[in-house]
Amino acid sequence: MYNAKAYSASGATSPLASSTIPRRDPTENDVQIDILYCGVCHSDLHQVRNEWSDVMPTVYPCVPGHEIVGRVKVVGSAVSKFKVGDLAAVGCMVDSDGTCPACKEGLEQFCPNFTLTYNFPDQHLGGVTYGGYSDSIVVDEKFVLRVPENLELAGVAPLLCAGITTYSPLRHWGVGPRKKVGIVGLGGLGHMGVKFAHALGAHVVVFTTSPGKSEDALRLGADEVVVSRNEDEMKKHTFSFDFILNAVSADHDINPYLNLLGRDGNLTMVGAPSKPFEIPAFNLIFGRRSISGSPIGGIAETQEMLDFCGEHNITADVEVIPIQKINEAYDRLLKSDVKYRFSIDMASLKSE
Ligand SMILES: [Zn+2]
Ligand SMILES: [Zn+2]
Repeated sequence: MYNAKAYSASGATSPLASSTIPRRDPTENDVQIDILYCGVCHSDLHQVRNEWSDVMPTVYPCVPGHEIVGRVKVVGSAVSKFKVGDLAAVGCMVDSDGTCPACKEGLEQFCPNFTLTYNFPDQHLGGVTYGGYSDSIVVDEKFVLRVPENLELAGVAPLLCAGITTYSPLRHWGVGPRKKVGIVGLGGLGHMGVKFAHALGAHVVVFTTSPGKSEDALRLGADEVVVSRNEDEMKKHTFSFDFILNAVSADHDINPYLNLLGRDGNLTMVGAPSKPFEIPAFNLIFGRRSISGSPIGGIAETQEMLDFCGEHNITADVEVIPIQKINEAYDRLLKSDVKYRFSIDMASLKSE
């Protein structure tokens, strides 16, 4: 074991603060990464404050962070994908059983025995896993991604959660040329959805409650912007969409969006509102519409997404912060006061 610097929370109401955590010495299959940037996901805040206590109670100290990019410092003797000095990235998972039907199909995100990057039982050291708000992490090479050299690294970090979470359903539902695609909500997830749908060649319509976001939506790649509160504007799009990606986590009525789907249209949730939806069956029956949800993506698809980003020069729009500003960043996250993701410059941890 060795000690790594980190920022951790010691309880649900404590701010994140400088600390030291143990990391395992790399085994023969492991890659040790010096972390350069870590994105700030809304899940980090939920976990730090134990807001998901019913499903995943938080174990303290908690070191969040699952949008990790850095450089390889050490490789185990059996590692074949990486050499010292390579760029590398880690997302929401660091392990899985490798034997279940989901793993065999490369869909590790559905493995019943996966290990999440933080606040999950650590198979090696006991206790729980510690995430990317740290200067270093050790991960089995199977769960380490290659990063294209041409991308700006601060903006690469959020691709590992916000990126794959939007890319995966767009691919699954066949988004491409001649498809009309809606993106609901222009935040950390939504802004990535717009970039990907545009790069995949679809006609992209952004739905927003704030007319002030129109200009930004168009800059990100939208072909049209609809203010969802304007019923007349909404009506013009009735029965016309192939696919709608809903990235809104605030409670809202999704029926106005279901009514915009055409035949066999699908609406996929990547946002997670707390209140259950009420959906009249006829809103699904007419047009054979469907509604679904989607979590992150498998390792192979995450690599595909990063390679796609390299080819199309796509990164997240980020505000880079030093780790010392993380508690302030959480407060701003609650007010959606960021365009569109915070990315922590981990060099700031050196002074702790
Ligand atoms: Zn996340
Ligand atoms: Zn599995």
